[in-house]
Amino acid sequence: VHLEAVDLNLLVAELHKSLARLISEEVELVVRVSGGELCCVADRGQLEQVLINLAVNARDAMPGGGTLEISTGTAELADEDIPPGRYALITVSDNGTGMEKEVQERIFEPFFTTKEVGKGTGLGLSSSYGIIKKHNGAIRMHSELGSGTSFRIYLPLSGGRP
Ligand code: ADP
Ligand code: MG
Repeated sequence: VHLEAVDLNLLVAELHKSLARLISEEVELVVRVSGGELCCVADRGQLEQVLINLAVNARDAMPGGGTLEISTGTAELADEDIPPGRYALITVSDNGTGMEKEVQERIFEPFFTTKEVGKGTGLGLSSSYGIIKKHNGAIRMHSELGSGTSFRIYLPLSGGRP
């Protein structure tokens, strides 16, 4: 891992073009970043990989087109996994197929995939989960069959340039 001060707003903005190239023409990409800096100490390449994994999954869930929305901000998180407090938040949501309960329960398992052989390895979300955990953050998913899925990535805020 290569840790450095990362402005998540800048990272998301810089990734915009690459993500747009990844998704199909029928999928609209909407990126909304909060004003100012959103600073974390992170491995930039790994966070980019997480966002790419989520974007590819969202694209695959919208074969007939739709909207992939990525937004940033901050949010309070108080649960058992990480210390309660204010976190940087990146939300990646789609209005695709959504997932059945049985699928929702298994998405973070290595090699779990519902895709055809050759179309998916089942490693995107398990590795994303590991990356966010290593950053002392949390990743949460909410999905509704027939209406879409959203992932929220929480990362510890840092004061800015070290
Ligand atoms: P892969 O994409 O190779 O199948 P992932 O770990 O990225 O592996 O995802 C695991 C499974 O989770 C997918 O096969 C799919 O069933 C489900 N999934 C992930 N993201 C979404 C999404 N945005 N909408 C619907 N299903 C999803
Ligand atoms: Mg995937």
